Amino acid sequence: MYHESNLEKQFSAALKSIARRDDLKAYVERTPELYVLLQQAASRYVTGETRQEGVAASRRLAGEGYKLSIEYIGENTSDADECEAAAAEMKALIQDLGRAGLPARVSFDLSHIGLSLDKELAYSHLMDLAANANAVGAEIELFISMEESSKTEDILSVYTSAATTYSNLGITLQAHLNRTPQDLEALADSRRRVRIVKGAYQEPEDRAIHRSPALNERYLELVECAIRQGHHVSIATHDEAIVDEVLKNGWLSHGHAEFETLYGVRPELGSKLKADGHSVRIYLPYGHEWYLYLCHRIAEYPPNLYRAVIDIVTKRI
Ligand code: FAD
Repeated sequence: MYHESNLEKQFSAALKSIARRDDLKAYVERTPELYVLLQQAASRYVTGETRQEGVAASRRLAGEGYKLSIEYIGENTSDADECEAAAAEMKALIQDLGRAGLPARVSFDLSHIGLSLDKELAYSHLMDLAANANAVGAEIELFISMEESSKTEDILSVYTSAATTYSNLGITLQAHLNRTPQDLEALADSRRRVRIVKGAYQEPEDRAIHRSPALNERYLELVECAIRQGHHVSIATHDEAIVDEVLKNGWLSHGHAEFETLYGVRPELGSKLKADGHSVRIYLPYGHEWYLYLCHRIAEYPPNLYRAVIDIVTKRI
């Protein structure tokens, strides 16, 4: 497990707030030289700005034997027309994946399609997307990401309402939140698709635990519990201590659990697990909001700043 110094913790918090600054994002967008340089750093984690680039990278990774999750990046959309446009892009993605014959998970934040404006708007876009995915076939799933704890209740309620109609939906749970063991218990009524992550957002002390052995312990308990409940479980982590424990316990042999890693993050880990015969899914993002995504990846692992500088100096896209 990676232990951040105090300075890195402050840096990480600063970067997370930079990611949310619309003025800084606008400045990057209207400064072509800066835009290109940062895009070079982002290209390690983001497949490109367009759906075509996302689908092309998906095809390549599927050819190498990985399963796929694909995300059109975006969150906290505060304009109904933009939510509509984001949902339209996701529908086009579903169609393109279907046409390409690529089994995949389309992952997204509910706040990208309306949750920041109105829960009902997010629900109606989700239902529409689920109907579209259903029409394309069983090989396309929709997967809901988990956001800040202030939204957890709404995200779970939109998901569980939609999941009573559609079975092609999955939900992400964050091990760092103290409420998550109860949330998982509440989903035990039927077999579901569940992704377990540690949690990327900064949360108040009374709601979550930080990166620590206690968090790893809770993470593993959640995975074990989700497998016991019969869910299809994605073990979404780059933490080798967790991976080793999962393998040691033989949890993958149940046939309905898999590892999932982010595109560009510890690719050698995913590749080794796949070579050893384990089921590995790669989470590929694409879209114009790569600035936000790059900030998140550096904030969660500050040494990635070194990689970003090297990529800026050496890469050409
Ligand atoms: P950590 O303890 O953070 O890291 C363990 C080790 O992994 C580190 O020591 C380092 O070696 C390596 N590592 C971790 N991150 C990086 C990185 N960025 N670059 C290089 N090395 C790294 N979070 C949410 O809050 N909501 C979501 O919906 C969500 N969806 C996700 C979906 C997937 C498929 C994955 C893999 C993650 C998702 N996350 C989500 C992010 C997650 O919560 C963590 O922030 C992230 O996975 C890092 O945690 P970790 O489990 O890898 O462990």
